[in-house]
Amino acid sequence: MKYNIDLHVHSVASQHAYSTIEEIARQANKKGIKAFAITDHGPNAPDAPYRYYFSNLRVIPNYIDGVRIYKGIEANIISEKGEIDLGDNDLNKLDIVLAAFHKNTGYNHETYDKNTNAVINGIKSGKIDVLAHMGHPLFQLNYELAVKTAKEYNTAIEINNSSFTGSRKGGEKNCHEIIKLAKKYGCFISLGSDSHISFCVGELFESIKLIEQYDYDQNLIINQSMEFLENFLKNRKKVK
Ligand SMILES: [Zn+2]
Ligand SMILES: [Zn+2]
Repeated sequence: MKYNIDLHVHSVASQHAYSTIEEIARQANKKGIKAFAITDHGPNAPDAPYRYYFSNLRVIPNYIDGVRIYKGIEANIISEKGEIDLGDNDLNKLDIVLAAFHKNTGYNHETYDKNTNAVINGIKSGKIDVLAHMGHPLFQLNYELAVKTAKEYNTAIEINNSSFTGSRKGGEKNCHEIIKLAKKYGCFISLGSDSHISFCVGELFESIKLIEQYDYDQNLIINQSMEFLENFLKNRKKVK
């Protein structure tokens, strides 16, 4: 199957990224990418936009250059209670909410148990559609428990392309462990490039290689079509 929806993309609003949404859409169109989610870093990250950025995303058209733009965030998980760094009013305006651990967000790489609780409680809060790059080597946790809970609450697990191309060094083997567990429990999977410049939008080669290597059920990949993705997100919202 060809995956031409990218669910993890940063714009210039994250200060270590280099392209505007319009530039990303133009490249996406050139590459045959049908849709992408703009998922800039949540306000607690040092290089993140102020929260108004997220509440105002509705001004961005749904289509630019024929490419569907989903408005989202890559929020930070910031406490053992599973809180993330954007309020419900703002979250409710978004199409998709990714969440992950990051450095320098007020939650430092804590103990195995604290990290596990943070992820489990985050999933149970119902606010997280996609757990992003859970294999981050600085934030060790009980993957089996996390994956099991994700399955129970219909939260998707991300396979992040950049985890295989130089980001978060040492996380690769964790990604293998996570995908094996996700397969065991039948979890939804989300594919994201984590691109920080327009030219990288839609680059999902390594993620696709991994799901193919494990012969992952294509019906569980939320990027398989816009229709599937939108239904997945709508159904999740109902139980929130
Ligand atoms: Zn990230
Ligand atoms: Zn990211």
